[in-house]
Amino acid sequence: GEDLPKPPRPRVLTVANQKGGVGKTTSTVNLAAALALQGLEVLVIDLDPQGNASTALSVEHHAEIPSIYDVLIEGRPLVEVVVPVVDHDGLWCAPATLDLAGAEIELVSSVAREHKLRKAVAAYIGVHEQAHGRLDYVLIDCPPSLGLLTLNALVCADEVLIPIQCEYYALEGLGQLLRTVGLVTEELNPTLHVSTILLTMYDARTRLAAQVAEEVRSHFGERVLRTAIPRSVRVSEAPSYGQTVMTYDPGSSGALSYLEAARELARQVLPGGGYGSPAPASA
Ligand code: ADP
Ligand code: MG
Repeated sequence: GEDLPKPPRPRVLTVANQKGGVGKTTSTVNLAAALALQGLEVLVIDLDPQGNASTALSVEHHAEIPSIYDVLIEGRPLVEVVVPVVDHDGLWCAPATLDLAGAEIELVSSVAREHKLRKAVAAYIGVHEQAHGRLDYVLIDCPPSLGLLTLNALVCADEVLIPIQCEYYALEGLGQLLRTVGLVTEELNPTLHVSTILLTMYDARTRLAAQVAEEVRSHFGERVLRTAIPRSVRVSEAPSYGQTVMTYDPGSSGALSYLEAARELARQVLPGGGYGSPAPASA
């Protein structure tokens, strides 16, 4: 296919929703793979101690592997933990190991605790450019909580991407996430804003999915990508083969939707003009 436009500077997106099982990890790895397939240079940062994004990308993440834990707690440069993703040109991953669960507590007493990831990513961007060319996207996969790990991701990013599962109670808890984003914007990171909503596990046969989609669109307007990701067995099978759905079954509805969603994302014109420019402080 045609290559996507490169943003004028790296776009850093935090994929967050404190609800578990809404498609954060699935969307992070498949959107990242879809962006990379379309000619962009993409880094996935796994910030969930479960390491599901690392698993889905077939990136080793046992206890001995240098991981994002070492970056946050030991101050290790990000470049020392980032690895290329097999079978995916232009896709990179900073893995998470189980010890990251402890980081949530260990960070509490550290200086500038909310800024660790931002500092590491800022330093990495230049290093990546020297070695592999300009980095276009950084996607951060968050744990299902609003603790210090997610806070680090929100301080690091310009944009928040919220996956919403088209199911009962889809909007439940969203208020708390939006308030947290608002607080971070006010206190820690004025450029942060919710730029993108992605509807996931959409089942076109049910009225419920259509109703949820309509409710989300009426609330978030243009920020909701037109492409909804369908519920599909191929999407849920791919990680057990250590593959993204983009390589596992490139012709499947799931893969095609993630490609289309990636196109929409890359062509978004953000507040302030241009791709990935700073936006006014509204979440
Ligand atoms: P989160 O990271 O928010 O906890 P996941 O991405 O791990 O959510 O998804 C939760 C579960 O739903 C996983 O088992 C995943 O395979 C499955 N899943 C996600 N998206 C889809 C989809 N489009 N179709 C079918 N299953 C999906
Ligand atoms: Mg997850």
